[in-house]
Amino acid sequence: MINRRKFIENLSAAGALSLIPAGLKANPIIYDVSLGAKSLPVVISTWIHGINANAKAIEVLKNGGSVVDAVEQGVMIPEADPENRSVGLGGLPDRDGHVTLDACIMGPDGNAGSVCFLENIVHPISVARMVMEKTPHVMLAGEGALQFALENGFEEQNLLTPGAEKAWKDWLKESKYDPELNWENKPNEFHDTIGLLAVDQNGDIAGACTTSGLGFKMRGRVGDSPIIGAGLYVDNEVGGATATGMGELVIKVVGSFLVVELMRNGKSPQQACEEAVARIVKKVPENKIRQVGFIAMNKKGETGAYCLQPGFNYALYQDNINEMHDSKSFY
Ligand code: ASP
Repeated sequence: MINRRKFIENLSAAGALSLIPAGLKANPIIYDVSLGAKSLPVVISTWIHGINANAKAIEVLKNGGSVVDAVEQGVMIPEADPENRSVGLGGLPDRDGHVTLDACIMGPDGNAGSVCFLENIVHPISVARMVMEKTPHVMLAGEGALQFALENGFEEQNLLTPGAEKAWKDWLKESKYDPELNWENKPNEFHDTIGLLAVDQNGDIAGACTTSGLGFKMRGRVGDSPIIGAGLYVDNEVGGATATGMGELVIKVVGSFLVVELMRNGKSPQQACEEAVARIVKKVPENKIRQVGFIAMNKKGETGAYCLQPGFNYALYQDNINEMHDSKSFY
């Protein structure tokens, strides 16, 4: 990786950047521009389920889809995976046994859509997109969100898989509600919220975030993930950010908006993620015993990631390579 970076820097220093075909921005054929410091498109997403989501998002872009299509269809992969215990179908239920989903999406035009406390719909991200595109609103909740989905052709499905039901029944034996750090990293459990950011070949950015939220949460609890500015924020002049972990901590600092604003004020994506985590450490007392992770990307495709506790990782597609990276942590 270092050698490749050096190679690219050397090329750049030698004036090889001038080899980039003129008029590339307008070229509808999408390919990686590997002679620059950063190639576009770039896709970044939270946790191991991000690998397949990134691959789908890239496929969509390479087939001529929009960056909003890419982020939506990317996160639909873990939403539809019944083995994934933290997103969509197969997500862990609340403490009363109901799977309730939160999701939101933002596009480069500044438009946003969101659903929260939605039941029985496998793809909340697509309902969120429909809220964005077909209504004058940003967010629909609970029964109203379900009604809207059904009116628009979505079908109801039981999301509580046998595996998730068993996990809930095991949990009921003690009914101890204390979200563990990185519970999602336990062997055989798939991971947490997926937040995904994509910058297309034109430098336009979109983001999507979808989750079943904390396992065994109180009925009615909504986390950061569907809240524009908390779980996700995109500004096409600057970049985007998305969060995972204990949503209450993210909401208290309006985390993703904070990261984007820090980038607007000149921080790199990495510096912005670090400063947002530092804000949580300073302002939210339970920071020592909870996990939060941010990922961020600017319009140039430069990325950053940072978290409170060790254990957070993310998937990054860049320069034709789609691979996992461990995030640095405050503690
Ligand atoms: N942020 C999500 C929530 O609080 C869950 C997670 O990412 O762990 O609902």
